Amino acid sequence: MTPPHLQIALDGPAGSGKTTVARRLAERLALLYLDTGAMYRALAVLSLRERVDADNEPALLRLLEARPIEIRLEPGAPMGFVVLAGGEVLSESELQANAASVVVSTIAAHPRIRERMVAKQREIARLGPVIMAGRDIGTVVLPDAQLKIFLTASISARVARRKAQFAASGTAIDAHALFSELEERDRLDESRSNSPLQISPDAHVIDSSELGVDEVVSKIAALARAVA
Ligand code: C5P
Repeated sequence: MTPPHLQIALDGPAGSGKTTVARRLAERLALLYLDTGAMYRALAVLSLRERVDADNEPALLRLLEARPIEIRLEPGAPMGFVVLAGGEVLSESELQANAASVVVSTIAAHPRIRERMVAKQREIARLGPVIMAGRDIGTVVLPDAQLKIFLTASISARVARRKAQFAASGTAIDAHALFSELEERDRLDESRSNSPLQISPDAHVIDSSELGVDEVVSKIAALARAVA
């Protein structure tokens, strides 16, 4: 069934540029914006703080019940929205920290955790025209989205981007460590049995290895105009 508002599903592997591209498009096309990875990262942050094992789904569910993860859409906030856990705002630096990146894909593979996150993501999509970035947006969260994009890039381009992001926030990070982390997350995200990262058959695939942000944004904006 066609959704009442425009929905753009933007999926792809880590470091493919989804977040930057989605934020620019949200501004340009006046869309709500949500990076769903931040929700899984929020639970990763809680699990690290509370020393809950990333493999222990029942304990993670209890954690989620005790400290519900909520999203407040705020275009002016550093990420374009605010993530709360049990009412506490989680900072972008904590969400994006390497410690969270290392455990997040194990946490995101649990089916009952995903069910809860997906329900919240769909609630947000009901609020109005939206661009949502993640791994399973076009395949699972918003399967009727009018526009689905799968944004990808070579591993070396993705490592370089993540490195630049860390450098911009004043954190030096070893390129080899980043390479291994991205490869391992890709492997886990693609191989999980529940909602793996895969290209929806109706998605437009864009390889951003050789493209600048503006070029990617323009391509997607043109595709959005065609479906609007
Ligand atoms: O997008 P980001 O790299 O912040 O996502 C962190 C992790 O969250 C991904 O590696 C993946 O394991 C998980 N994720 C997911 N489904 C989504 C978004 C993110 O499984 N829709």
